[in-house]
Amino acid sequence: MVTEDERRKTKDKRLIFLGSPGSGKGTQGARLAEKFGLDFIGMGDILREEIKRGSGLGKRVSKYVEEGVLVPDELILELIRGRVEHNSGFILDGFPRTLAQARELGKIVEIDKVIYLRCRAEVVVKRLSARRVCPGCARVYNLLTSPPREDELCDECGAPLEQREDDREDVIRERLRVYEEETSPLLKFYGAKLIEVDGDSRIEVVYSQVKEAILSDG
Ligand code: AMP
Repeated sequence: MVTEDERRKTKDKRLIFLGSPGSGKGTQGARLAEKFGLDFIGMGDILREEIKRGSGLGKRVSKYVEEGVLVPDELILELIRGRVEHNSGFILDGFPRTLAQARELGKIVEIDKVIYLRCRAEVVVKRLSARRVCPGCARVYNLLTSPPREDELCDECGAPLEQREDDREDVIRERLRVYEEETSPLLKFYGAKLIEVDGDSRIEVVYSQVKEAILSDG
């Protein structure tokens, strides 16, 4: 539950959710954004949408996404600018992912807080290997923790669930390597704005800790 008072307190917050792939940024970010009435901006979702639509940009980025490596900064910045400029309250998931992206973001808007979901690599590999998505309504399942009622079929629309190309174990390991190399320096970059949360726990436990972090002063 989020009270009216809490919503008022956070409606103009600009937040970043930082953490490795599979740390729960998207799951927690989307839920909390909805509760607090903030915009949820998921860079991976934006890219997958472009790829699905077969847009010019989608064609340029698909190879990077499938291989689990980063899309070049210029393309990413083109996509993000309009979404954060003049936007007073949002949660960013999957952006920034490099120091160059973080510096550019800083020129566009002031970030209030960075929530860092710390997660162990073994937990991530286990979680992501079990993730399935519905190609129809985009609902996300986890075969271990939140499986569909019927074997690999979507509860909402009955479509057979799919595994993301980049959720295969070899690609997951590559994404973790890229995270360590390119994204983990952001932890230091954001320094005082960073609040760390243990991302290894169950969804509900992490949820209440992230909520507390968002509402905390400072
Ligand atoms: P995600 O859904 O956040 O795990 O992102 C999926 C993939 O999209 C990543 O493995 C990258 O290939 C690409 N991607 C997402 N966000 C970014 C970003 N900020 N910079 C570069 N590539 C990105």
